[in-house]
Amino acid sequence: MTATIIDGTAISKKVREDIATQVQELKNKGVTPGLAVILVGDNQASKTYVANKEKTCRELGMYSVLLELPESTSQEELLAHINDLNQDEKIHGILVQLPLPGHIEEKAVLDAILPEKDVDGFHPVNIGRLMTGQDTLFPCTPYGIMVMLDHIGCNPEGKHAVVVGRSNIVGKPVGQLLLNRNATVTYCHSKTADLAKYTSDADILIAAVGVRDLIRAEHVKPGAVVIDVGMNRNEEGKLCGDVAFNDVKEVASFITPVPKGVGPMTITMLMHNTVKAAKRIHSL
Ligand code: NDP
Repeated sequence: MTATIIDGTAISKKVREDIATQVQELKNKGVTPGLAVILVGDNQASKTYVANKEKTCRELGMYSVLLELPESTSQEELLAHINDLNQDEKIHGILVQLPLPGHIEEKAVLDAILPEKDVDGFHPVNIGRLMTGQDTLFPCTPYGIMVMLDHIGCNPEGKHAVVVGRSNIVGKPVGQLLLNRNATVTYCHSKTADLAKYTSDADILIAAVGVRDLIRAEHVKPGAVVIDVGMNRNEEGKLCGDVAFNDVKEVASFITPVPKGVGPMTITMLMHNTVKAAKRIHSL
């Protein structure tokens, strides 16, 4: 069996078309969804991510503000900016680009964002809502994975989903979203003894680790849906995932490539969340 490759770029394009329509509908009602992105310091990768977010916002007809702050910004100053944006009626989504400089406490910053404007879905209130099965702003990468599964017609109900990785931004929330959709969920992590024992029983296998080629053909059940979140670099500096793509695609039924798999979905779901936040704030 050779797997069908899940085209994240194509799915993302479709979702973005729908978002653009929703933006237009909101504009017709006098609301332009607005996203504020805060970047502290000179991290080159972060600058690229932030530029992409701004560009996508503009393409979809949304309002966007980029706040570029120097590395020397104090936590107090950053919190004051967030407070201003919390009160700014033109802004429906606030995103603080991570990582932050070492002298700023990430938790204090994320907690300061109004949960209603927390388009990254990292605020404890939104995580709590996710845990208790309520609709809310969900973390973008996990949410994007769920949209991809829907797109290929994979209903998680009754399936065994194995999530490798338990970070707060990917592993844990994607497992919770799958559980909320009635999958039976197993989490694996760096202390898991005998990884293959669990992964080889997965109907849906999510790899969110950051270790190149960790998941090989022997880790995968024939016919499984394999989602590769990992973003690693090989010797030539080429982007690659956590899954040994060429081998695993001969075993899986569906597989995401890296790049052009999960990656494009993350920014798309950020835009989706900003529109969702605008609708909720204006009760539309
Ligand atoms: P973290 O480093 O926060 O978490 C990695 C997880 O993998 C941890 O839970 C860790 O276990 C686990 N792990 C590490 N080594 C092993 C191993 N040998 N076997 C099993 N589990 C292991 O990473 P993130 O969750 O932030 O990101 C994961 C990957 O996804 C990265 O490559 C990142 O770049 C990528 N990513 C991609 C995005 C996209 O848009 N495509 C968005 C976000 C992330 P433990 O908890 O025990 O330490």
